[in-house]
Amino acid sequence: MGNKIFDKNLSDKMSDEQILTGIEWLAEQMPGGFFIYRADDKQEILYVNRATLMIFGCETIEEFKELTGNTFRGMVHPEDFDLIQASIDEQIADVSNNENLDYVVYRIIRKDGVERWVDDYGRFTHMPGFGDVYYVFISDITDTRIAQEQQERNKQLEHLLEEAELANKAKTAFLSNMSHEIRTPITAILGMNELIQRECNDESILEYSHSIKTAGTSLLRIISDILDFSRIETGRMELVVDEYLVRSIFLDLYNLVQFRAESKGLSLKFEIDNRIPSKLLGDEIRIKQVISNLLTNAIKYTERGYVKLIAYLKEIRDGEAYIEITVLDTGIGIKKEEMNRLFEAFDRLDAKRTRTIEGAGLGLAISRQILSLMDSELLVESEYEIGSNFSFVIKQKIVDETEVGDVDFSLLASQKREVHEKQGYLVTKGVRILLVDDTPMNLQVIKGLLKRTEMEIDTASSGEECLLKIQTGKYDLVFLDYRMPHMNGVETLDEIMKRFPEFYENVPIISLTASAISGDKEKLIAAGFRDYLSKPVNIEEMENMLVKYLPAESISYTGENKNISEEEDSELDELPKEIRNIKVLNHEKGIEYCGDAEDYVFALETYLKSADDKAAIIESAFSSNNMEDFILNVHSLKSTSSAIGADSIFEKAKELEMMAKNGELEELGEKTEILLKEYKELKVMLENAFKE
Ligand code: ADP
Repeated sequence: MGNKIFDKNLSDKMSDEQILTGIEWLAEQMPGGFFIYRADDKQEILYVNRATLMIFGCETIEEFKELTGNTFRGMVHPEDFDLIQASIDEQIADVSNNENLDYVVYRIIRKDGVERWVDDYGRFTHMPGFGDVYYVFISDITDTRIAQEQQERNKQLEHLLEEAELANKAKTAFLSNMSHEIRTPITAILGMNELIQRECNDESILEYSHSIKTAGTSLLRIISDILDFSRIETGRMELVVDEYLVRSIFLDLYNLVQFRAESKGLSLKFEIDNRIPSKLLGDEIRIKQVISNLLTNAIKYTERGYVKLIAYLKEIRDGEAYIEITVLDTGIGIKKEEMNRLFEAFDRLDAKRTRTIEGAGLGLAISRQILSLMDSELLVESEYEIGSNFSFVIKQKIVDETEVGDVDFSLLASQKREVHEKQGYLVTKGVRILLVDDTPMNLQVIKGLLKRTEMEIDTASSGEECLLKIQTGKYDLVFLDYRMPHMNGVETLDEIMKRFPEFYENVPIISLTASAISGDKEKLIAAGFRDYLSKPVNIEEMENMLVKYLPAESISYTGENKNISEEEDSELDELPKEIRNIKVLNHEKGIEYCGDAEDYVFALETYLKSADDKAAIIESAFSSNNMEDFILNVHSLKSTSSAIGADSIFEKAKELEMMAKNGELEELGEKTEILLKEYKELKVMLENAFKE
């Protein structure tokens, strides 16, 4: 042994053999693996310590030799060998740089077949008596490696989660902004449409306009749902608790859905427990929202039978009423396997059947969240093809324990219609109001809606302009929009209070708000508005507001209906008797559509001129099965017949159009024949009349 590392005094007394044995003993004691192999092509192992054997899962050197063939190559996982050999070769080539240990990481395969990771600090060197060798310190790093990987994965997951949360927040904010942005133009569309409905007499245009109204209203409803949903997602949905009358909740709900149920031929039943206390404390708007969601769903998903609401007083305890609300229907029901998706936002069940039914799949998700704010839970029982039963229990503080008594719903709708018809139009001559809104179309719509009141309407398109107008003008009332750039409604109101306190005291300032949320409205009142009105403006509500806040002496009503019928009588006299003799025509209606008798006669002439062609086109479209042309021409016949008061032809054409659109072709031929026969008969009657 040349280089003695032991204490000289000691080593001098020992033989080389003794020293070697000592070193080997030491190597055996090392907790880490250590081995030496020859640095030639065969890479024969010259020495391995016990720790190395353990790393390879071997008990004896024989087992190790069998496992590895006693070569370094045999120790390394076959897939990793080439890579680490390259690194070893580099080390051998660069003999000068043998100061540092060469570091490699690779896999091994233990005796029990398990794969493990090891790290390997090795060095190429010349060992006296053995020649060129490689000696290596090896340790099993699998566990730390797994822990590290796990940590890294966790980090990545955290990162992904953060990103997902951010994306979700962005999505919710986007939904909310979009909904706000979409509300404004839809409001304008619906308003304009309302003007069309008021001012137009053409049956087919009125029909289109009605479709605009239906589609627009349902779009608005979806947008309100999305807004609510985003409020829930961002935790901004709060209850606004106040006193309310139980009776009015159910009357409002009945009013809201009755028409819809009736038009589907469903019977609507409300059973209200007469023991329920008459006045309670809670969020009336949200309770109504949940029940109306359930009722609308019940009506939407029921084709025949009934929809029933039951309100039942379960108990009164500690000054609180526990009321169970149940909405039952005899509709399509819900499949068992789809039940768990019922409350998923944007999810709709039984896609094949519900595809054509309006809805965004948000109603139930929102209802459930609202109820959870009230510590309540929505329960569902349903049987497919039989019907559904949605119910929940709410606990409300009692304000007035007098029983609500019998609530009679039967007269409601007809009463309302009658009152409206009796009153005629609101007229407010001499009144001057200021209308503030940054969207010109909104100004135009409201001006149009109020035209018949004959009031004077001044407009401003910003908060600043509003202040200027107030400074110089005299007004009886102000409608002030909430969402405006620069200065919003509340800021404008603040300025009015500061700069024109006397005006503020005397003139009612009413907020126009597109926001459908009750809490926001309370805030408007708290901010100092006398009242608020939701957009899109409903003319009845707006007129009610005017009646409420304008001086009584400026309010009157006019019944235009009478004048119209008087006018019609005299116009009827103007009609040639040959035409009056055609009994299948509804002359009054024709005159009303066309304006006067002269225009009516002209319309009849035009109708007659096109009759031959039209009949031929309808006939040939039917026989060549060209449904597109068929529908188009039957539709046009329907409109023109309606305009001249040919009611029977109108009805028949309408039915045919529907049948063709729905693909109900069975009786189409027979009915087309009957229609054409009647059409041709009318043509002959008109021809005779005009001849004379
Ligand atoms: P939607 O706007 O689609 O009606 P909802 O969240 O209110 O959204 O309801 C989710 C789905 O649950 C509906 O699309 C429908 O498939 C089903 N559903 C809700 N109420 C009923 C019911 N009364 N009868 C049958 N299916 C219903």
